[in-house]
Amino acid sequence: MRIPFLSFSPQHDPLRADILAAIAAVYDKQWYVLGDQVKAFEQAYAQFNEVQHCIGVANGLDALHLALEALQVGTGDEVLVPSNTYIATWLAVSFMGATPVPVEPNPDTYNLDPTRLEAAITPRTKGIMPVHLYGQACEMGPILSVAQKHGLWVVEDNAQSQGAQWEGGLTGSFGAVNATSFYPGKNLGALGDAGAVTTKRTDLATRIQTLRNYGSQRKYYNEVIGHNSRLDELQAAVLSVKLPHLLTWTRQRQEVARLYNEQLAGLGDLVLPAVAPGATHVYHLYVVRTHHRDALQQHLTEQGIGTLIHYPIPPHRQEAYAHLQIPAGAYPLAEELAATSLSLPMWPGMRPADISAVADAIKSFFAGH
Ligand SMILES: *Cc1c(COP(=O)(O)O)cnc(C)c1O
Repeated sequence: MRIPFLSFSPQHDPLRADILAAIAAVYDKQWYVLGDQVKAFEQAYAQFNEVQHCIGVANGLDALHLALEALQVGTGDEVLVPSNTYIATWLAVSFMGATPVPVEPNPDTYNLDPTRLEAAITPRTKGIMPVHLYGQACEMGPILSVAQKHGLWVVEDNAQSQGAQWEGGLTGSFGAVNATSFYPGKNLGALGDAGAVTTKRTDLATRIQTLRNYGSQRKYYNEVIGHNSRLDELQAAVLSVKLPHLLTWTRQRQEVARLYNEQLAGLGDLVLPAVAPGATHVYHLYVVRTHHRDALQQHLTEQGIGTLIHYPIPPHRQEAYAHLQIPAGAYPLAEELAATSLSLPMWPGMRPADISAVADAIKSFFAGH
């Protein structure tokens, strides 16, 4: 038996004809960049995310970068970021010449701990970038309170959490301007790179539209030094076919998580995902923790079960951030998570038999530990 880390089949097989027809329509129309498909998807995604504006861009990292550029982050500024996140969140800050300042997570939810924010604020702090890690919404109420009190903006990294909620509000709708990714494996995935910025603010939406397209609203008239970071018509067409199914896929992910929770309860030192009161979890990833992580991963690999580690090295320990000279042990929670986390196979439509097979393999591992 082989169980991959991720399979697209239950999502993509039933939509094959619709997706290929959407691609063919773009092919035949012969308009490939910034056309009707991008506009239609932007409108549909803005509506889904309950914001006034969605701006399609080339990928999630660009979405983060353009969000910070629209807010005019600059050299010398400090931005509070999670100590445990995918490095993209940090890179966007660095692109602006600003400094990412790590804040440790809540050890149960792995999301930014709002009670630790104030200690990290200095006169240079400009904003906070919560990441709804693995698909669980951050505690946005307390985070927004701290931001408001100190006059900081908030930019959500919503790459892993499309459709998650904090107290009824959707992630990607709280910050001044927010970024998401449609990388293929994300909860809403394109067939290649794609991303978007979401915002309620018309001024920032206009600025980002300009920035993503060479700093231009009118062809060959350039107002600012912009980028080429546009969402392709082809990817927009594919995303428009997939978006109406996202809520169903989310429920399917939550069902997979429920079965894992049931079958993996009480095994050795295995820690299962915890959801904060007020938050929902859309299970982009189902991440467990154990001090026997490497041995467990090895055991599962030998049984043909795919797993991944999100993430093996926290950003402050990456070579790319050696210049910050942050010593090992400075962010012990992030380092502990990097050493103990393991992501199990998870995709919408994963069969109960496959879930049980993964659970049985983990049980057999802990029987010997
Ligand atoms: C995937 C991801 C990104 C970047 O998205 P890309 O489209 O791959 O550039 C940013 N932040 C987080 C938390 C992500 O998971």
